[in-house]
Amino acid sequence: MLNPKKLSEQDIKKIAKNAIKPDSKISFYDLLLSEKIITPEQLKEIREKKNNQRYLSFSELVETNDDINMEKYIAAFCCSFDIPYIDLELLAPDTNALTEISFATVAKYDVFPLYLWSGELAVVFKDPSDNGAINAVNFETQNRVVVLCSPENQIHSAIEEHYQLAEFDKLIDQISRQYQLSGSGNISGQTNLEHVVNQPPVVKLANGIIYSGIREQASDINIRPTRSSVELHYRIDGKMLLVKSFNLELLNALVGRIKIMGGMDIAERRLPQDGHASVNFLNRDVDLRISIIPTIEGESIVIRILDQSKGILTIDQLGLEGQTLERFSSIIQHNNGIFLITGPTGSGKTSTLYSIIESRKHSSRHIISVEDPVEYHISGIEQIQINPKIGYSFSESLRHILRHDPDDVLIGEMRDTATAEIAVKAALTGHFVMSTLHTNDAPGAITRLTDMGLQPYKIASCIVGVLAQRLIRKICSHCKSEVTLDEKLVLSQGFEEDITYYEGKGCKKCHGTGFKGRLMVCEIMTLDDELRGLILNGATAQELRGPAERNGMRSLKQHSLELVTKGLTTLKEANSINIEM
Ligand SMILES: [Zn+2]
Repeated sequence: MLNPKKLSEQDIKKIAKNAIKPDSKISFYDLLLSEKIITPEQLKEIREKKNNQRYLSFSELVETNDDINMEKYIAAFCCSFDIPYIDLELLAPDTNALTEISFATVAKYDVFPLYLWSGELAVVFKDPSDNGAINAVNFETQNRVVVLCSPENQIHSAIEEHYQLAEFDKLIDQISRQYQLSGSGNISGQTNLEHVVNQPPVVKLANGIIYSGIREQASDINIRPTRSSVELHYRIDGKMLLVKSFNLELLNALVGRIKIMGGMDIAERRLPQDGHASVNFLNRDVDLRISIIPTIEGESIVIRILDQSKGILTIDQLGLEGQTLERFSSIIQHNNGIFLITGPTGSGKTSTLYSIIESRKHSSRHIISVEDPVEYHISGIEQIQINPKIGYSFSESLRHILRHDPDDVLIGEMRDTATAEIAVKAALTGHFVMSTLHTNDAPGAITRLTDMGLQPYKIASCIVGVLAQRLIRKICSHCKSEVTLDEKLVLSQGFEEDITYYEGKGCKKCHGTGFKGRLMVCEIMTLDDELRGLILNGATAQELRGPAERNGMRSLKQHSLELVTKGLTTLKEANSINIEM
């Protein structure tokens, strides 16, 4: 007998989409090809990537290709393996099912428990080929798991709607009741706090916040006390997003839990502390760099998420094209000289440096990097973490490195004259040196080096290229739509009148911001005889810009406006980076 309110497995099978007729005689890959979901070229490319990127599954690699329709891909998978493919938006979940799987697991594996009926739990997976997720669910429930599948965006919406915030609320309520928190936030007794931070609701809440941040592709998680509450913010695509406000009483428990995760001193609450942790997320290790500072409202936490699988892009993935890509590629062919990457904090300089290293390490070069901090571990190169506290500075470590027979040297940042002098010495003695500087544009790097006291002839003879970069937000492809802009505004930017402009309207997928993901905007300066002459004569950055553009440098502004004409970003976003200049 079926309970009409709860769908049986058969019912779910009946409503499963049957866009593609299953045919068990053909393999999954053949089905993808015959249904034209993937072209033979795409299949070849993904298989090649799979050999290089062991962290990502076949499905995750398919997902990185914007030209493949993910929905059709998963539908084909379900047909091949006879898994019901459901439209989650049409179904109301069973609240009893929600309590079967913890929020930490739901957030970590992107799964959604839908129905619970006698001894069976129907769980929706975004990727039913993910054994890690299926095992994790099996581990938590006593019931037999019925595997269903839905598009990832529907699962995300369902988790957000029915689970995430409700689960945070439930845990918060549980913690408050269990420990009888008073209005003054009193889990302050030392023994009591040490006990509380190891209790399941507190552990689950802290883990849920972290997994949820990783899943949302946040770069940082910020838990910030205000006078009346605790605010949870995620930094996504460079912008802070308020996710939730908690009761202030929870602060001490959360801070304590995170201190334990980061190997910090739980009793120290008056001094800033730094810590590290590593969590396993979707079968890969994600490093967390934790900073806690005491503010007048209480301790404030920032967790930087260093997702190793996303850390190192290939040169192709940087998004350079045409003449810019040619310039970049020719600079990184050099065997000696200095290549500088410039831009403000958070402009993606480190990612670019790592891409260069990744491409050069294959040409049997001995590469040593000096960094502060080492953000990603790159196999095949020697990375050094400096430690100024014990006098091991950039310049000090570089002196030793040059005796260590390197071909290429990466200097995390050129902070002082001593470091710059050694970089020049290394470049002049046949090393390829890569480093970063905080300047707004490429010509500005030259004047910065002069200001640091480097002689102009050294600069003119060493620099093989300067790349200035920014990251610009990309219009969300899920809510992208055409807009008409004010004619005067359009003409003032020097655009043709007949360009189509786009904006994101804001949807669940982009948290209502209208943007998802970021693109690199850059200008690359190389030196010709005219520019070298100007440098020797002590020219200013403004004086260098004109000749640099005549020598083929496309400016940051030009590049950002090109992205507007291509419909990849908005005029407002492009102008926001140009204002900084
Ligand atoms: Zn959107």
